[in-house]
Amino acid sequence: MELLNTLVDKGLRGETPTRDEALAVLATSDDDLLDVVAAAGRVRRHWFGRRVKLNYLVNLKSGLCPEDCSYCSQRLGSGAGILRYTWLKPEEAAEAAAAGVAGGAKRVCLVASGRGPTDRDLERVSDTIAAIRERNEGVEVCACLGLLSGGQAERLRAAGADAYNHNLNTSEAEYASICTTHDYADRVATVRQARGAGLSACSGLIAGMGESDEDLVDVVFALRELDPDSVPVNFLIPFEGTPLAGTWELTPRRALRILAMVRFVCPDVEVRLAGGREVHLRSLQPLALHLANSVFLGDYLTSEGQAGKADLDMIADAGFEVEGADTVTLPAHRSGTGGGNGGRPPGGVPARDAGEPAATATATADPTAPDTAARPAPAPAGGRAGGEARTDLVAVRRRGAGTGLPPNA
Ligand code: SF4
Repeated sequence: MELLNTLVDKGLRGETPTRDEALAVLATSDDDLLDVVAAAGRVRRHWFGRRVKLNYLVNLKSGLCPEDCSYCSQRLGSGAGILRYTWLKPEEAAEAAAAGVAGGAKRVCLVASGRGPTDRDLERVSDTIAAIRERNEGVEVCACLGLLSGGQAERLRAAGADAYNHNLNTSEAEYASICTTHDYADRVATVRQARGAGLSACSGLIAGMGESDEDLVDVVFALRELDPDSVPVNFLIPFEGTPLAGTWELTPRRALRILAMVRFVCPDVEVRLAGGREVHLRSLQPLALHLANSVFLGDYLTSEGQAGKADLDMIADAGFEVEGADTVTLPAHRSGTGGGNGGRPPGGVPARDAGEPAATATATADPTAPDTAARPAPAPAGGRAGGEARTDLVAVRRRGAGTGLPPNA
């Protein structure tokens, strides 16, 4: 396919495709699907080899959010039967993080529900980062705490955070249809603020919320312009008790095309396979490793992922390798390492001031993906209205942080 040759050439040069080319990827036929994966896989291997970076989510505060993001199980008025708890103690969070690191994660993503942190919240997160550093010196730490106000990004940086996650989630045009309590511009401003404070920016999307191909391309091009270091790609988990319950729009092939499009538009960026991968990619999950160079290990914020051991087996079976703590994730021109490890610590995070530890992380405010092991075949694609509830696919997290049970890592 001429399209794929063009996209590979541009991807290997780190160039952005045109909007039409990105749209054409989403419109490819099932006959061409493996060619699309192979082409985007060449771009992925050029920049990231066969390495897979593992990230581990710790939900510091679950549910009880005053915002109304329609995709989120933690939203105002959510009827989803998720765990609800207020701030974990620093030691509890550090214990959960340690399980992820022991499972191979090089980044810990500290997430809290809410519109944005208070100054007291930042103190708590700072204490948590210190507790995590004490147990896991080299781990990257990312914070994901919602909208930031003036000076908060700098405080997080000073506390030892390496990265900040805040997703755009969908296109500017669609944003008002998924949230009314804050807007797209608020999200963009927070990503810029994080970058401006020297934090590694992480910002991504959620697919499968009723958006068009144009919306998907719009949000990915907007992300390209914001230039985050990492882009998590979530697939909607339509929790019962949320407005998007029953919205099953994605097929495994569609999910792969979306990931391929993101890879072509953001060729040299850490593309992270995030919430919803198990329920939407299902048996095609291993193919997604040819597109994304990063995944979440184990469970998500409010839903279960497949067993951490199954993640590791899948990576090995597909011929990929878990990225080590001493390997820089990003290509040298993005990490500032000049090919070595000069400007940034392992993981591709900007150099810290002397005496500060190294870290970075990222998570969407709601990457929640269920356990798919031994689950029945999925329902056909549904829509916002009339989609079938799939309680068999969406499993609420009942272990790990906020429970007395060991985490999945
Ligand atoms: S996405 Fe974040 S801000 Fe929105 S409802 Fe969920 S926890 Fe609250």
